[in-house]
Amino acid sequence: MSDEFDFQKKYKAFSLNNFRKIPQISNLSEQEQHEIEVVGNVLPFKVNNYVIDELIDWVNYKTDPIFHLTFPKREMLEEKDFIKMESVLAETSDKETIKKQADEIRYSLNPHPAGQMEMNVPEIDGVKLTGVQHKYRETVLFFPSSGQTCHSYCTFCFRWAQFVGLDELKFAARETELLMRYLQEHQEVTDILFTGGDPMIMSFKVFKQYLDPFLDGNHNTNVQTIRIGTKSLGFWPYKFINDKDADEFLDLFKRVIDSGINISIMAHFNHYMELRTPAVKEAVKRLLAAGVQIRTQSPLIKGINDDSEVWSTMWREQVNMGMIPYYMFVERDTGAKHYFEVPLEKTWEIFQKAYTSVSGVCRTVRGPSMSCTPGKVQILGVTEIPINGKMEKVFSLQMIQGRNPDWASRPFFAKYDPEAYWMHDLKPAFGDSFFFEEEMNLIKEEAGMEV
Ligand SMILES: *Cc1c(COP(=O)(O)O)cnc(C)c1O
Repeated sequence: MSDEFDFQKKYKAFSLNNFRKIPQISNLSEQEQHEIEVVGNVLPFKVNNYVIDELIDWVNYKTDPIFHLTFPKREMLEEKDFIKMESVLAETSDKETIKKQADEIRYSLNPHPAGQMEMNVPEIDGVKLTGVQHKYRETVLFFPSSGQTCHSYCTFCFRWAQFVGLDELKFAARETELLMRYLQEHQEVTDILFTGGDPMIMSFKVFKQYLDPFLDGNHNTNVQTIRIGTKSLGFWPYKFINDKDADEFLDLFKRVIDSGINISIMAHFNHYMELRTPAVKEAVKRLLAAGVQIRTQSPLIKGINDDSEVWSTMWREQVNMGMIPYYMFVERDTGAKHYFEVPLEKTWEIFQKAYTSVSGVCRTVRGPSMSCTPGKVQILGVTEIPINGKMEKVFSLQMIQGRNPDWASRPFFAKYDPEAYWMHDLKPAFGDSFFFEEEMNLIKEEAGMEV
């Protein structure tokens, strides 16, 4: 890692068809390269020259968190699936046959978690607004059609299905007209969150169309904060430094802010190593100087950041750089989850240890949180309470967000289970169901889902 960022740096990506041309790839054995090829045929794989040159420590790549964050590994597939894919690749180069095998494995990896397809897509005059999700009252998610890829893919990504062409219906919207109408008709919406993929993959010319309506004092919506969910600070900070439209972006952000709307970058950082390059430091400085707020989030991922010191260090360094720690998520139940998941109890222990070792300015972080069908469920901890006269362990939980807003901030309890990894593994500690379940089932029935 050098002390300076490279003013000439041009984005260059590598994927399955050319990763063997990465100069540092010769550090890997033939077998490891073969395994990247096999797994990369099932799960999405793309990495760029910033990640390769400035983030990954190639001497210690076997234990490097950013290497694991971006390069596929044999164990990310179940062994039987790896063998299936490997033998198909050995037998044929027919694209159709390879895709058929890959899709069969992909469909077994729960590609669409948390009912996102069925339940969150709103309508205007009976027309479905693809590209929009409205799950929590105040916040609308928007998936601009040209923002549905990333500068580099994360191996744990929960939106992986859309990068391998599994979703014909990948959430994506082209124009802002219907979106603006929806926001005008829904004055309860204060936040719009641009997401993807990564909206910061878009060129200025394209991105501008989505922000322009808000510059006009007559947008007649109640939007107060525009959030941009992005991994660009971690994977391509040059977006804000010397990409040809970097200054135009900063200027546009500044004008939106001057017009009275907050801009908050929801930055994905999974490890403190992503905070240490000269380029990311410069990018953060420039965004802050433009008046943009930066909040940070990440899931807790085995092999990448399942260590309390990684989190406490990351939060401290983020705060020192002027960013606000926001979410710690639980790894979602999709894709290579068997490889990355950490039990809920252990996840909470890591959170608790990290949280208690930092000062209050870092404790803006909320978590660990599971984004599941009823809402964002936060694990408050494992505690002991008397049940039938005997002390028993339980999980104490609450929702940070609920599909019904009234569900948030109501404590509830689940039976202790050291093997629980996700909400659907949890059973109520008292009675037959959690307090929200009956209403949740009604909502599901209305959406035509199985209950
Ligand atoms: C997390 C999330 C939001 C934002 O929730 P906040 O608590 O406002 O950060 C909005 N919509 C969906 C679907 C989410 O998962």
